[in-house]
Amino acid sequence: MLRKLPLYVKILIGMFLGLAFGILVITFGIQHFATDYIKPFGTIFLNLLKLIAMPLIFASLVSGVSGLSDVSRLSKLGIKTISFYIVTTIIAVTIGLVLVSVVRPGSYVSEAKRVELLEKYSFDLAKRQQAAEGITQQSPLQFLVDIVPENIVNAASNNTSMLQVIFFALLFGVALILVPHSKVAIVKDFVAGLNEVILKIVDIVMLFAPFGVFALMVTLLVDFVGTDLGSSVQLFTSLGLYALTVILGLLLIITLVYPTFLKLYAKVNFKKFFRAIFPAQLVAFSTSSSAATLPVTMEQVEKELNVPNEISSFVLPVGVTINMDGTSLYQAVATVFIAEVFGVELTLVQLLTILITATLASIGSAGVPGAGIVMLIIVLNSVGLPVEGLALILAIDRPLDMLRTTLNVTGDAMIATIIAKSEGKLGE
Ligand code: ASP
Repeated sequence: MLRKLPLYVKILIGMFLGLAFGILVITFGIQHFATDYIKPFGTIFLNLLKLIAMPLIFASLVSGVSGLSDVSRLSKLGIKTISFYIVTTIIAVTIGLVLVSVVRPGSYVSEAKRVELLEKYSFDLAKRQQAAEGITQQSPLQFLVDIVPENIVNAASNNTSMLQVIFFALLFGVALILVPHSKVAIVKDFVAGLNEVILKIVDIVMLFAPFGVFALMVTLLVDFVGTDLGSSVQLFTSLGLYALTVILGLLLIITLVYPTFLKLYAKVNFKKFFRAIFPAQLVAFSTSSSAATLPVTMEQVEKELNVPNEISSFVLPVGVTINMDGTSLYQAVATVFIAEVFGVELTLVQLLTILITATLASIGSAGVPGAGIVMLIIVLNSVGLPVEGLALILAIDRPLDMLRTTLNVTGDAMIATIIAKSEGKLGE
């Protein structure tokens, strides 16, 4: 009977069992057992997802692009996709800014708590600060330079250079369109076949998903809660209003903004959409990585929403790297929260600066765990706020990362559906 259950139910069961088991592990103090015998399975699942991400992007993007009849269709598709991505990101940051200005969570943190948090996390902070300092010293056009790899094998071997692989795949696909069909028919067939094989691998990996998610949840609890459930709950409540503001913003986007977009531009019922991408959301939640979730997102969007591969293969990988509505909203809320805790009054110009830099910083964030908080340093710098402020929010970053990643992935899937509709290809 268990076999017949839909995938998302199996993953949900895995997640809840993982949570329950994690709590037992902490209560009985058997963290060692979990680290030695359960954590490896979570790592294996994550590795499998990452393993498949690069070949999937390449095969699927090349076969998608070469299936388009001409290059001008590709550039139109590109402009449309990126415009939608930027508009939704700006809406997300605006919602974040409005919410945080109304709720004002920073005004509720006591001085004692602030000092305690700053002291507790200063070590970790130094490491993150170093990483972001490297980023802020670069030229403003560095992001363009970064898109063009000097060596494709190196680019493909590094899971954070997804844009570089996308760039090469696009170039390859465009060249395939330009060369007469008779000369490259065999290459096109090969890539199309390769794509099928990789999609089958995704199917196989997903059979393991419920177990992988179980192991990831146990590990998360053990690593992030540690030995004392009580103190984590305490920490969460002291930063509760800040976390709630972020969560409220994410909820507003998922329940109001996305359904409106879907209705207006894709004529798709949100319930149907939600059911289709639920497995991808669960994987995003448990991995905190939209890049690692890409194979699942692609599979769900194609199989359940009938978005053709030629659209999803372009829109989704690009979305994973540049479209992060959850991250941008979180960066806006966090910046204003930190300003308030430090007693800095932000002017309208500074709020606008946050709008722009949070949009850019979310575009620049890689789809990996914790990327958002590293890029947050850039937003803080842009309005002259002390980076030490990060220490305040570091402690509860992981749960928020899980939630914002879920939204990031949902946003990518939504835009893929909209673009497919606008091209008259939805459900073909
Ligand atoms: N973890 C997020 C993602 O992969 C990025 C972030 O840290 O906000 O989408």
